[in-house]
Amino acid sequence: MRILVLSDIHANFPALEAALASAGQVDEIWCLGDVVGYGPYPDQCIQRLRSLENLVCLMGNHDAAVTGKIALESFNQEARHAIYWTRKQISQENKEWLAGLAEHYVIGKATLAHGSPRSPVWEYILDPVTASQNFSEFDTPVCFVGHSHIPVIFTYIGERLPAYWEIPSPGTEIELTSRSIVNPGSIGQPRDHDPRAAFGIFEPDRLTWTPLRVAYDVDSVQSQIRAAALPERHALRLSGGW
Ligand code: ZN
Repeated sequence: MRILVLSDIHANFPALEAALASAGQVDEIWCLGDVVGYGPYPDQCIQRLRSLENLVCLMGNHDAAVTGKIALESFNQEARHAIYWTRKQISQENKEWLAGLAEHYVIGKATLAHGSPRSPVWEYILDPVTASQNFSEFDTPVCFVGHSHIPVIFTYIGERLPAYWEIPSPGTEIELTSRSIVNPGSIGQPRDHDPRAAFGIFEPDRLTWTPLRVAYDVDSVQSQIRAAALPERHALRLSGGW
């Protein structure tokens, strides 16, 4: 069984399409939230996800903001601008779909959360101490999280010890231990200085994770961001992956 795990699409349709094509045949698709925000193709991304069979999709903080579930004060000015813009772009039906997404999901051998199992919509797992504090918050062998836009694997090595962490090389299959927190990175706005879309394939039967990257047409997304008069910073960061 092959499961495509992706996160933080951020309304970047060309990046989403490239990842779906590159992943090939999969049995399930798990999306960890932030379908919209920052980028210029929110309706197209939602529509594409809704067309996929065997999709599980979570709600991220940007999705929650667009649907009015959380206050906008917690977002910086540029992110907030994109949230207002997105509200005007997406159809009522797609807004309702976003509003109905789950914050937290347990499926087979995995727990899914946008930020962390302890605080699904908000907490960033960026360091081994925060990761270690989250191992008691899920019961499955693996927990997948997004939100930080950084591909990383945290492994449990003992109570009150900071987790072991590694940044995996794309294309290399990794055998997970029975207690891991895995972040696939971001499809639409990578922040590890690699502009390619980040995602991965989880094989639950063998408990393996294969991180992957794929290049897409960054120029066309930047042009679309400018045409929509979204913040210039959202365009610039795509070419450098920050
Ligand atoms: Zn995000």
